[in-house]
Amino acid sequence: MPAEIVCATCQAVAPPDTLRWRCPCGGLYDLRATTAFPRDALRERPQTLWRYREALPLPSGCDAVSLGEPITPLLPWSALPGSHLKLEFLLPTGSFKDRGACVMLTRMKALGIRAAVEDSSGNAAAAVAAYAARAGIACRIFVPASASSGKLAQIATYGADVVPVPGSREDVAAAARQEAEGSYYASHVFNPYFLQGTKTFAFEIWEQLGFRAPDQVILPVGHGTLYLGAYLGFRDLLKAGEIPRLPRLIGIQAEACAPLVAAWCGRPAAGPAVTIAEGIRIAAPDRAEAILQACRESDGELLTVSEDEIVSALFRLGRAGLYVEPTAAVAPAGALRLAAAGRLPAEGIAVIPLTGSGLKAGSTIAELLTRQPA
Ligand SMILES: [Zn+2]
Repeated sequence: MPAEIVCATCQAVAPPDTLRWRCPCGGLYDLRATTAFPRDALRERPQTLWRYREALPLPSGCDAVSLGEPITPLLPWSALPGSHLKLEFLLPTGSFKDRGACVMLTRMKALGIRAAVEDSSGNAAAAVAAYAARAGIACRIFVPASASSGKLAQIATYGADVVPVPGSREDVAAAARQEAEGSYYASHVFNPYFLQGTKTFAFEIWEQLGFRAPDQVILPVGHGTLYLGAYLGFRDLLKAGEIPRLPRLIGIQAEACAPLVAAWCGRPAAGPAVTIAEGIRIAAPDRAEAILQACRESDGELLTVSEDEIVSALFRLGRAGLYVEPTAAVAPAGALRLAAAGRLPAEGIAVIPLTGSGLKAGSTIAELLTRQPA
């Protein structure tokens, strides 16, 4: 399906095979494409996200870079009547980021790219490294020198060249962008194909609920790669006439690092403090404006949860047989907070993704266990 790469700031259209990662004006690229959802044909297709190929802006006939992504289960959550947990941690590298990486790397392979760079210390880097390995594309990942060794081991095992950079998260991004001048920037934040992959999260929910949208989707938000993917996916379904309205997209941040909640509430962002939810410890999300717009358009909201609420939700999920990393407990914690305030109607359907596996954060969780009351 042909796609147009358009600058979100000046609306200039880039050539479809552009290797640039942003517009000469400095704006970020979005993708415009028409999508279709052939329900009858869907019944016959394998249970992977590639079943939605008419909604993925990829050249026809290109080879998918795939590790066999399954449709992730949608389980009722007894803690909150009407709510369902979507087990995104069951994707091949242990997080939802595989949705974005498989589509982005498929596009990169079709463009003939041989080498790429990314900057991340966590799940996005693991996903990009794994799919780059699958595609036969050399991959260099810039990480903060302080990144945890467990996640770096996963990235390095996929064969990526891991480059530690001292300083802040912004210093790491700057190093990656400099390197990207002579390579290709496979950024989970800037590359518009990444969000075209994460939107399959919405398509799966729609099909799993019997071709309808839930009333709410409650998601963790850092850079917003899943939040925006959900928005784009449900918007595709709305435009195609498959759903009557967008679900409310409710974004949850950790109190310690909540620039989007501050912007939503019209107050200045406090300096980022340490949160256990390392996957959303993002002080200045590059797509902030798009996230706020998606929130307004879906009649959603953005709110915070405390560190205690995150830890409590993590162990509550554990007692239900679900082992997730702390970042993945943020949205369930937000849902519990909304329900306790009487703001999550029991007659509606809420979907809450569990974004990353606890196996990625074993040492952190072991440390939390030593602090749990007996
Ligand atoms: Zn522009």
